[in-house]
Amino acid sequence: MADIVSFLDKKAPELFAIADEVWAAAELGFQEYKSSKVQADYLEANGFTVERGVADVPTAFIAEWGSGRPIIGFLGEFDALAGISQEVLAERKPVVPGAPGHGCGHNLLGTAALGAALALKEALAKSGKAGTVRYYGCPAEEVLAGKVYMARAGVFDDLDVAITWHPSSLTMVSMGSGTAMNSVKFRFHGKTAHAAGDPHNGRSALDAVELMNVGANYLREHVIPEARIHYVITEGGGQPNVVPAEAEVWYFVRAPRRSQVEEIYARLLDVAKGAALMTGTTHDVNFLTGCYEVLLNEALAEVMWRNLEKVGPPKFDEADMEFARKLSFTFDKNSVENMLRNPDFAEFQELKEKPLATILIPPRRRGRAGGGSTDVGDVSWIVPTVQMSASTVPLGCPGHSWQHVASSGSSIGKKGMLVAAKTMALCGLDLIEHPEEIAKAKAEFQEKTKDSPYKCPFPKDRKLPLDEFFK
Ligand SMILES: [Zn+2]
Repeated sequence: MADIVSFLDKKAPELFAIADEVWAAAELGFQEYKSSKVQADYLEANGFTVERGVADVPTAFIAEWGSGRPIIGFLGEFDALAGISQEVLAERKPVVPGAPGHGCGHNLLGTAALGAALALKEALAKSGKAGTVRYYGCPAEEVLAGKVYMARAGVFDDLDVAITWHPSSLTMVSMGSGTAMNSVKFRFHGKTAHAAGDPHNGRSALDAVELMNVGANYLREHVIPEARIHYVITEGGGQPNVVPAEAEVWYFVRAPRRSQVEEIYARLLDVAKGAALMTGTTHDVNFLTGCYEVLLNEALAEVMWRNLEKVGPPKFDEADMEFARKLSFTFDKNSVENMLRNPDFAEFQELKEKPLATILIPPRRRGRAGGGSTDVGDVSWIVPTVQMSASTVPLGCPGHSWQHVASSGSSIGKKGMLVAAKTMALCGLDLIEHPEEIAKAKAEFQEKTKDSPYKCPFPKDRKLPLDEFFK
C-alpha cells in the first residue's frame, strides 16, 4: 500500500502536467489527437507497449505491460464537451469563446487511470508477480461511442477485470447502473419550391421532422416512466421562403435496460415512418451508437471500497475551499439541498457545511438506474467492471458546465484525481494478490449475464461514422 501511494505522490507533478495538457487541448470525441498522443507517448516512455488506432478508431489506443494472468484493465477517457471553454476562474470567461471545454473532467479521468496503470506496473515489477496491466485510451465517451466500437473489435474480451472512475462532487464506489441508450439521426428528404409562389410543388422535410417530434412527444405518455427521449434539430432548412428539401433530427432514447431501449426505439422508427408518410417525404435512419446500462459487480465494489477507505477522501486546503465557495455562488442556490433530499445522501447533512466534500460516502444505490449513460456499460457486460468517483468539483456543481471545466483545471480536480489513481492501483494490486476475489467477481458476472450475454448494439459491419457526431 505505502509503495503505491508514495510512488503516485512522487509522480504527481508529471500526472498533473498531463491532466493540464489534456485540459488545455479540450478536444471533442474522435478528434482527441493531441490528448491521446500525450498519454500514449508517456506510457510508451515508461515501458508500456502501445498499440495506436485500435478498432479502426484513430484516437483509441491500448498500452500494455507485463505477462500472464490476471489481466487488469484500466479504462481512461479524454474527450471534452462543445461550447463550454472556460478559464480556471469563478466567473464566466472562456479561454476561446465557443470552443470545447472539459466539463466532465475527462482530462482527470484518463490521467488517473493512466497513473493507476503505471503504479500497478511498478508494484508488479518490484514484487516479480505475474500479471498484465493494460491502459485503454478510450475516445468519445461523451457521445457514448468509443468503448462500444472498441468492444465490437473484441479488445476487452480477454480481460479479467476492468477498473475505472469518474470525476464527481462525491468520493465513493459507484453502485448505480445508469441507463442504456441509442443515438440516432433521422434525415428526411422532400422537394423544394417557392414557399409562397408554388408551395403545392414542394414537400417539406422540416414538416416531417416536426411531425416526427410531435409523434415522439405523444409516445412519451406510453413508455415506462424511467425512459428518456430527447432530440435536437440538426438541420431545418435555409430560409423561410424555400420549402426545405432536407431536414434532420438527432435523438437519444434511454431506459434502465438495454432491452427496454430496443423496444422503445422500434416504436420511434415507426413514428419516423409515419412522419414521412404524412408529408410525402422519404427518410434515412442513421444509427450512430448505442450502449448498455452499467452492470454492477458487488464483489469488485467491495474490494474497491476497502482500498478507498485506506486512501481516504481528497485533502482540500483553504485555497481550494475558497475557490469552490466562489464557484458555488454561481450555481442554483438549491442544488446542494436537492442532492441531500435524495434518500441515498439524506444522512450526510454535514455536506451542507463546506463547498467541497471531505468525507467518503459508503457503498449504496445498489444497481439503481440514474439518468445518464456511459459506454463503460458495454465493458461491464463483457468483463466484471468496477467504478468509483472522487471529488473533483464543488458540491452542487452542475454537470457539463463551465464551472465543471474550471474545477477540472484547478487543484481541486487534481487532488480528486490522485485519490482515484491511488485507489484504482491499490484495487488492482489487491485483486492480483487475492485471486479468489477475481474468481468471486467472475462467478457473480456469469450469474448475472447467463441469460442475456452481451450483444453489440449495432450490426457487425456498421462502419464508425466518425464525422457524424460533430459537424
Ligand atoms: Zn463523463
